[in-house]
Amino acid sequence: NKYSAEDVLRISKERGVEFIHLQFSDIFGVMKNVSIPIEELDKALNNEIMFDGSSIDGFVRIEESDMYLRPDTDTFVIFPWRTTSGVEARLICDIYNPDGTPFEGDPRYILKKNLEEAKKLGYTMNVGPECEFYLFLTDEKGNPTTITQDAAGYFDMAPVDLGESARKEMVSTLKEMGFAIEASHHEVGPGQHEIDFKYDDALATADNVMTFKMVVRIIAQKHGLHATFMPKPVYGIAGSGMHLNQSLMKNSENAFYDPSDQMGLSKDCYYYIGGLLKHAKALTSITNPTVNSYKRLVSGFEAPVYIAWSGRNRSPLIRIPAKRGNSTRIELRSPDPSNNPYLALACSLAAGLDGIKNKIMPPPSVDKNIYEMDENELKELNIEKLPDSLEEALVILEKDEVIKNALGEHIYNKYVEAKWSEWDSYRTYVTRWEIDQYLTKF
Ligand code: GLN
Ligand code: MG
Ligand code: MG
Ligand code: MG
Repeated sequence: NKYSAEDVLRISKERGVEFIHLQFSDIFGVMKNVSIPIEELDKALNNEIMFDGSSIDGFVRIEESDMYLRPDTDTFVIFPWRTTSGVEARLICDIYNPDGTPFEGDPRYILKKNLEEAKKLGYTMNVGPECEFYLFLTDEKGNPTTITQDAAGYFDMAPVDLGESARKEMVSTLKEMGFAIEASHHEVGPGQHEIDFKYDDALATADNVMTFKMVVRIIAQKHGLHATFMPKPVYGIAGSGMHLNQSLMKNSENAFYDPSDQMGLSKDCYYYIGGLLKHAKALTSITNPTVNSYKRLVSGFEAPVYIAWSGRNRSPLIRIPAKRGNSTRIELRSPDPSNNPYLALACSLAAGLDGIKNKIMPPPSVDKNIYEMDENELKELNIEKLPDSLEEALVILEKDEVIKNALGEHIYNKYVEAKWSEWDSYRTYVTRWEIDQYLTKF
């Protein structure tokens, strides 16, 4: 463990921390927080801070709304940026019921529960995410637009890259907060960026993704820009993904590596891929949770469309990066950054473990460009498509016991209810596209 409660108290005092944000995630991966003055920190570390759970999306009904926050002291970080109210810090919290049991509606608990399942089989999970996002201009009133003046592309450098200085400050801020940044670069779309940080165990990575999004938004704002993790903000240009590089460890060794295999991959790795492919459609309802997510999953923008894996090709759902040994991993390319990282990791793991438990061998890898195949070829190779819409993904989720079970009853019910209503609201909405197509034609 990184910090004890005493460490947190001592460091807070030494650094003159005045406010602590107690953070947690709602079921959609939106960060919530309760702020306390430093005088209350002792109480917080004693798990005595309560909040009203009924006001949080997807949590509980009014009559059972008292929830307790239990700070995870390892997540203690002091914000490196100055605020008007002095030095501030945060602690990510687990949520508990008044009777002392973990709250089933807490996504962080759901991830822990799935990691516990893996542990029973002797595995721990490591994940390295690749978060992409857009930086857009704001208007005179400070409201976000979808306009960028940045005309740069993949790996371009300043001065074409207007977001460069913002991105540099994001990287240095993240580093100050303890992130190991591996790379940051301009992405394919104008105004699109990617910052990659080092893999960690799954729980730390999910926490990091939450923190990452917060930092990127705050720093963008300081530069007069709006950062968005919306998966497809502009029609016709690349969407933003959040590729998840995943591996399992067993007895402190990479369980996906086997030098004697032709591809250097272990049985466990093949089965894990088999499980992910088997549950790919239902998993998409969690890794790609918004109506807009499905506008990214189209051909022509390096986003996956077909359910297949490859050792070489970049187009399929699962790619195997070239590194072997301890870096052996699979890269799931469907997730987008509008997802809840706790749930996305929990469900990916559950799918992969189902593959391992049931020895699900994946079909042979597809090293040809799937986008160039015709209908017959796809049929012959039995290559199916990812869901076309949130609706399709939800229908399949309702039939997938492995993913449902990974979410637990509480989150599953609340999630599905909310997502169906999101779909219905979209389905019945009259869009600009329809007006353009039909208003004068009929
Ligand atoms: N932006 C692409 C996506 O939507 C990924 C591009 C890349 O990193 N090669 O997933
Ligand atoms: Mg990348
Ligand atoms: Mg990328
Ligand atoms: Mg990638």
